Amino acid sequence: MTAELYAFECGWITAPAAGVLSGATGEMRIPIPAYLIRHPKGLAMFDTGLSATLIDDVEGYLGSASAARLKIEMTAASTIQARMAAAGFDIDKVDLVINSHMHFDHTGGNCACCNADVLVQQAEFDYAESGQGGTTYKAEDWETGQTIRKVTGEYDVFGDGSVVCFPSTGHTPGHQSLRLRTDRGEGILCGDACYFRRTLDEMRLPAHVFDEAAFRASLQTFADFRAGGARLFFGHCPETWGDVPQGPARVL
Ligand SMILES: [Zn+2]
Repeated sequence: MTAELYAFECGWITAPAAGVLSGATGEMRIPIPAYLIRHPKGLAMFDTGLSATLIDDVEGYLGSASAARLKIEMTAASTIQARMAAAGFDIDKVDLVINSHMHFDHTGGNCACCNADVLVQQAEFDYAESGQGGTTYKAEDWETGQTIRKVTGEYDVFGDGSVVCFPSTGHTPGHQSLRLRTDRGEGILCGDACYFRRTLDEMRLPAHVFDEAAFRASLQTFADFRAGGARLFFGHCPETWGDVPQGPARVL
């Protein structure tokens, strides 16, 4: 058995389109993914979707400004714990949560993986803790009592090269993506280093990025992986998300 990838849809957000794709108009409704990696040595999540708090208290969780700007679609059925259970996976057996970065739409279900450590890049953790990132960072999502393992640079999760975190900064100071090698091919979980297929194909960046040069360099890395035959999984791409089988079906 090699590494296996499963995907779950943990809510939707509708946001002003120009904020996430330069030059776009109107609003865009984007999926919030979470992924499970099953490996002979353990279970790891890559991001955990939206917090269950958002089912009935958007303003209390996000604050009034973000609550007014964003339309959140979140139900009890779309929490990561509900998605995992419906697909026949035991969330209590997840050993590790890997966060691409610590924005709330990626950390909301961390606490549901109650026996897991959390793995993030040191630079991301430091930025989140500093408070400079504003309300997109929710301390309650990582102040859960879970052990937080802070790494710098590439990190080989299971020690065999099949599941490797690598820095892909630009969206945030410590963003990381994940490279998977499976018996069904290679995959890259881009996270928000590349929101959409169009981000890469049309080189259309979000309106606000932490470091534009770093963002463009991360996109080039994804382009190189794709040219080498890897399948890219984008952060919030409504155009390609429908092609990603949902758990319990295996993606890769
Ligand atoms: Zn996001």
